[in-house]
Amino acid sequence: MNNPPPPRIHVLAKPTGATCNLACSYCFFLDKELLYPGSSYRMTDEVLENYIRQLIEAHRTPQVTVAWQGGEPTLMGLDFYRKAIQFQNKYRKPGMTFENTMQTNGTLLNDEWCEFFKENNYLIGISIDGPRELHDAYRVNKGGEGTFDKVMQGLRLLQKHKVEYNILTTINRINADFPLEVYRFHRDEVGTDWMQFIPVVERINDQGLALYQEGTSVSERSVQPEQFGRFLTTIFDEWVHNDVGNVFVQTFEAAARNWVGMASSGMCVFNKTCGHGLAIEHNGDLYACDHFVEPDYQLGNIAEVDIIELVASDRQHKFGQDKFDTLPRQCLTCEVRFACHGECPKNRFTTTSEGDPGLNYLCAGWYKFFTHIDHPMKIMVSLMQAGRPAAGVMPILAREAAELEAAVAKVGRNHLCPCGSGLKTKKCHGRKHAETIPQPQSLPVYQAQPRARVVAVSEER
Ligand code: SF4
Ligand code: SF4
Repeated sequence: MNNPPPPRIHVLAKPTGATCNLACSYCFFLDKELLYPGSSYRMTDEVLENYIRQLIEAHRTPQVTVAWQGGEPTLMGLDFYRKAIQFQNKYRKPGMTFENTMQTNGTLLNDEWCEFFKENNYLIGISIDGPRELHDAYRVNKGGEGTFDKVMQGLRLLQKHKVEYNILTTINRINADFPLEVYRFHRDEVGTDWMQFIPVVERINDQGLALYQEGTSVSERSVQPEQFGRFLTTIFDEWVHNDVGNVFVQTFEAAARNWVGMASSGMCVFNKTCGHGLAIEHNGDLYACDHFVEPDYQLGNIAEVDIIELVASDRQHKFGQDKFDTLPRQCLTCEVRFACHGECPKNRFTTTSEGDPGLNYLCAGWYKFFTHIDHPMKIMVSLMQAGRPAAGVMPILAREAAELEAAVAKVGRNHLCPCGSGLKTKKCHGRKHAETIPQPQSLPVYQAQPRARVVAVSEER
């Protein structure tokens, strides 16, 4: 072993490889089917048992997370997951507990699945991209039909069986223009109190393929940096004025941890280094990260080398350290680096204003977001440090807003705005009220296209 292994690791297991029953237009995983041409894309019982045993052995903590993802993991059928629980019980160390998680599109769920999830304390992540029009823009089946109704049906089943779940929303070029519609739909219509937002950055190479992490351009489905920043700041404002303590948004929770100065933000993308979150394919191949399931980042196969050795290898150690070591100067001198850390290396394919490579494609968005939340974050941190709930930020911000409104009413419209922006009041907080409150927008109707399957060179012949 080259480096001391971490006490715990997080492995995303892909028992069906990239195979999925849907064909979401932006899903780069689908192209990964090319990685294993001719494969059945089903994890065997032998690989499953070996994986669970090694995962347990790799842990020096009492809790182990067993995370299933895809493709679509429910395509394996329930018996596979029943066996996984049996193997967990077989190899469990004294005092050890398991947290089983699954990320699913929800379309294949039924009562039997949900009873199993409830019985075994699964945490289910459901992928929804907002209300019907926004969700169906890209999340379609192989016939190009929207999947909204099926997903909602699966979600209501989870709620009926009281299965713990959260919502994962990908932010793309279309739904990014509708932050409040997305957030309020999830909060008020779906009824969730836990959301994750993941930007779609579909990097394409010279042939126009989004196969591996190569190329410097993005697909037309990818969210734009400024658009992403607007999306996050708008949702943050809605949350910080109304929902702190009641709704949990993973990005905001991670940001708060970095503002407090905790050792880990809880999200690898906002940590200084990474490398402890890996991915395992259906055949036992272990990869450096779920976003780097490609030949250059394959660490080995767990039938030949144990997971713990692969995690502690120099290669994986370097992969994790590179997250910091390859930061361009712009990031090193950035005032919000403590929160952003250059985000994920997979998105670092643009150049800085000084011409340095390795700047994050989403930099403008992250910078806008992290600078925007600084003031409320500082209030929340001081509340928590005083042993008070972070939710106390809401009345403080409401009072500040009332004071500002009173100050604005006293100054002329052509005077500098009392908020300190440097703008004239009429261009800032003195704008007519109707201009400052977000107006409901009509949602677009979009002709969705299923993702076209990438044809391997050998198949074309
Ligand atoms: S490469 Fe990105 S997603 Fe993967 S572990 Fe590092 S920060 Fe996380
Ligand atoms: S906001 Fe931009 S410059 Fe600052 S750390 Fe993040 S990616 Fe780097």
